[in-house]
Amino acid sequence: MERSWVIGDCWLGCGRTGVRVLWLGPVQWDGYTAPFMSCASCLARLMAQARAYWLSRLRIAAGA
Ligand SMILES: [Zn+2]
Repeated sequence: MERSWVIGDCWLGCGRTGVRVLWLGPVQWDGYTAPFMSCASCLARLMAQARAYWLSRLRIAAGA
């Protein structure tokens, strides 16, 4: 999937605005949709958490 960086606001907690952000997907809540944007440092933190989750699931699947 092609992703492109744009200038915008980070939605992932650092609160920075006017920075390079990447669209991660839609936020959907109560029938409303908003674009979920992340800056590079927040994305790195999110990906580290996601990798830890995937690795723990792999370990469970492997029976380790
Ligand atoms: Zn951020």
